[in-house]
Order: sequence, then C-alpha cells, then structure tokens
Amino acid sequence: MAKVELKNISKVYEGNVRAVDDANIVVEDKEFVVFVGPSGCGKSTTLRMVAGLEDITEGELHIDGELMNDVPPKDRNIAMVFQNYALYPHMSVYENMAFGLRIKKVPKDEIDKRVKDAAKILDIEKFLDRKPKALSGGQRQRVAVGRAIVRNPKVFLFDEPLSNLDAKLRVQMRAEISSLHHRLDATMIYVTHDQVEAMTMANKIVVMKDGKVQQIGSPMNLYNYPVNKFVAGFIGSPPMNFLTVKVLDKGGSVVLDEGSFEMKPLPQHAEYIRNYVGKEIFFGIRPEDMTYVETPASENNIALKVTVVEPLGSDIHLWLTTAGSTAQQMVARTEPHYIFKVGDTANFTPRLEKARYFDKETELSILAKLDAEAVKG
Ligand code: ADP
Repeated sequence: MAKVELKNISKVYEGNVRAVDDANIVVEDKEFVVFVGPSGCGKSTTLRMVAGLEDITEGELHIDGELMNDVPPKDRNIAMVFQNYALYPHMSVYENMAFGLRIKKVPKDEIDKRVKDAAKILDIEKFLDRKPKALSGGQRQRVAVGRAIVRNPKVFLFDEPLSNLDAKLRVQMRAEISSLHHRLDATMIYVTHDQVEAMTMANKIVVMKDGKVQQIGSPMNLYNYPVNKFVAGFIGSPPMNFLTVKVLDKGGSVVLDEGSFEMKPLPQHAEYIRNYVGKEIFFGIRPEDMTYVETPASENNIALKVTVVEPLGSDIHLWLTTAGSTAQQMVARTEPHYIFKVGDTANFTPRLEKARYFDKETELSILAKLDAEAVKG
C-alpha cells in the first residue's frame, strides 16, 4: 500500500516566490500519476516536497495516512530518479546500485540478490562491472532506475528522467518505464514538461501552471473535457485551435460569427453559449476535428486559405487562415492522399460535437457543467 495525499500544499521560496499554491492531489496506491506543465510551473518543487528535499511551507503531506511533513527523506520510503541520473562516477554500476543499501546496513547477500534482480529486470546485467562513463545515456538511465528499484520503496518519484535522451531513446524508455510500472505494481509520480509523455504514461495527469493545479484527470478526460483554455491548448499536438467569435442571437438561434463565416453550435452547447450573446468568446477545435470537404455543401462550412503544407506521411498538417480581415490562424490534420498547395482555398467542417467554448476573460470552459457530467460518466 502506498497512497500519497497532498492537502492544501504550498511552497513559498525566499523572496516571496509562491512556487506552489494550494495543491490538492491524491495519488492512489499503484497509480502512475504525471505532473505536467511548462517550465517553472512548480512541478519539480511539488515532487521535491513529496521526497522531503524541500520543506513544505503550508499544508499537509500524507503517505498511507501518516503525516510526513517533518519526516526526513530517508525515512519516507521513497526513491527518486533524477534527470541527470546522479550516478557516482568512480563506482561501478553494481556499486552504484548497492550503495544506498550498504549505508542502510542491509546484509551483503540480500544486497547482491536485490542488485542482480533489478539488473535482470532492466537488462543491464552485463554492465554491472562498468563505470557510468562507459555506458550510453539510456543505460545510465536504467542504472538510475535500478538504484531506485533495489530499495524496494513504497513510492517511486521521477523528475524529468528522459530529458537528456535523444528522441528515439525517449520513446523506448517511455515504454520501458510504463512496463516497469506494471511489473512492479508500484505507486509512481512522474514529472515532465512533455505532454506526450503525460498522455502516454499516466493513469492520472495533474496539469500545473504558475504554481497552481489546473486540472486533474485521466488522459482522455483532459483531452476531451479541458476545464480551461490553458489545459485545452497544452494537451494535444498540434494544439487545439482557438478562434475569437462573436455570439449572436438570430431569430432565437445562437450563432457564432467569426467575421468571415458563421456557425451554429449544437443545441446542447448553445444552451450554455446563450449567456454570451453580444460578447466574444473563444471557439476551440482540435486539428483532427476539422473535416476536409471536397465539395462544400453543408452549413457550418468554413473556407480557409492554405498558408503552409506539412506532409508527415501518415497525415498532413495544414496551416490555414480564415478569410476575413482578422485572418485568424488554424491548423487542420487531413488524410495523406489529398493534395494541397499554398494559396489554395480549402473547405472544412468542424466536428461541432467536439468543439469547446471558453470565456474570453476567465478562459474557463463555458461547457463546464456539461463536461462534469460527462466525466462522471
Ligand atoms: P518546474 O519543475 O515546473 O520547471 P520548479 O518547481 O522548478 O518548476 O520551479 C517553480 C518556481 O519556483 C519557478 O518560478 C522557480 O524559479 C522557483 N524556484 C525553484 N526553486 C527555487 C529556489 N530554490 N528559490 C527560489 N525560487 C525557486
């Protein structure tokens, strides 16, 4: 059992820097939770408070119901894997993995067993006698993970562990850490600025910005039901498109006016958008929810000008601008067999059931109530 609870946790650094502000996060036993957000949002500080490497300014940290605020790091039964691996250069791989256990006076036989078992899990048995400098980045990362495994901790903490690896190795290590989570059946908290890592690895994602938790949820719930414009734009690549549109009432119907085209939102959305008649809001639509139409016919059809064509083999990313004087930018993802040229006009129908709407001032989702029901399922 290892449940981690952060209750109203804040961190104020010297100089009154509020790095983390009132975080409430529950990490359930055996869960893989990812803290994600742009650089400086407070995710490492939050993780370091769980590890005991930073004092907690306000709030309570519980592990399995026990208050941990004043428990020293070594007594928290937590192991942390760092971005820079933090291996001892003069020690062999074996020694690096055994070191923590030696300090704890674990019997030699037991140490040997644990190091060899971990080396087997991580496929680094043949490197046990080497020094870290004789290993590749990916192998060093495995040793760092191995050093955590041998301690048999209640909770594993990872701080951007893949940042120093090249793109291909990152993808491989991502899968290895996910698979490790399944095999060890352990509670893991993982910090990254990379939303793809968050989406692919997490059971639960915590999105942070400016020290504040923005949203907590499963990857698909965050993707489909972002609570605000920040989460909507941060999760997903290429990011969600946002158009400024004016809300009109035309003969009792809610209409969105972009300047160069009009759209009618779905009735279940219009109910909430109606409160904004006469005002501007953000209309959000993901690139894959812009359907290319060869012969425009339907209403809610948008004619857009192609400004950049990015063929990726599996699909095409099209950069587009709306036709009006504001020329708002959008990206659409289409199937690879279409041929587009810069300067073309292409027609799209947004999948309005997937559209998101955000208040222009607060940037909060206008569909929050509807989404809360959908998330509850
Ligand atoms: P992230 O991990 O999301 O990149 P951090 O948790 O490292 O963000 O930092 C959050 C904020 O706290 C940043 O504004 C950073 O500059 C500030 N910060 C981090 N460490 C310290 C420190 N030791 N003293 C003062 N400010 C700090």
